[in-house]
Amino acid sequence: MGLFDGLAEAREQKKIEGYMRAALKEAQKAYDMHEVPIGCVIVKDDKIIAKACNKRNHDRSVLSHAEILAISQACKKIKDWRLDGCTMYVTLEPCPMCAGAIVQARIHHVVIGAMNPKAGSAGSVINILKTPGFNHQCEVESGLLADESSALLSSFFKDLRETKDAAESTDGIAAGDDEEIDEKNVAAPAAAPTENSSEE
Ligand SMILES: [Zn+2]
Repeated sequence: MGLFDGLAEAREQKKIEGYMRAALKEAQKAYDMHEVPIGCVIVKDDKIIAKACNKRNHDRSVLSHAEILAISQACKKIKDWRLDGCTMYVTLEPCPMCAGAIVQARIHHVVIGAMNPKAGSAGSVINILKTPGFNHQCEVESGLLADESSALLSSFFKDLRETKDAAESTDGIAAGDDEEIDEKNVAAPAAAPTENSSEE
């Protein structure tokens, strides 16, 4: 590989990380709203066309996962239910509902931060994003800024436990238990090689 190829690749990597940082910023917004901190952005033609965070408690809706909210925004923005040509950056491996929506929207490429062994549907429990029988399969990469994503989740659940310990009852705890996320396990293996990472 030549020097310029190397520079181009470094620039590309920086850009990709920038998008995941934008998703992490969304996750932080969820954290600040006492929601499980998960964030997502959708990129088309090098532009962020949608960004959202988990708002399940705020909206009192199981549908208000970051990915679903972002897909909905992106569809409005480009006036089409098809999101082909789009890349989703999401801080935690999608659940079955979101993975289903991603396939339905025909999102081309999904970049994941931390994996979720308890409910992840991009390879952990099941791989909905790459099921050969479906009419659409996504390109999937995982492990991008995974440490930052899982640190946010760990800190959130730690806060939650402390709040719970301080309170006599669980009343008023907005987030509640999240049995679908095992915060001790929410992490990609250190420096996990991604499925489609470029060879070095
Ligand atoms: Zn979901």
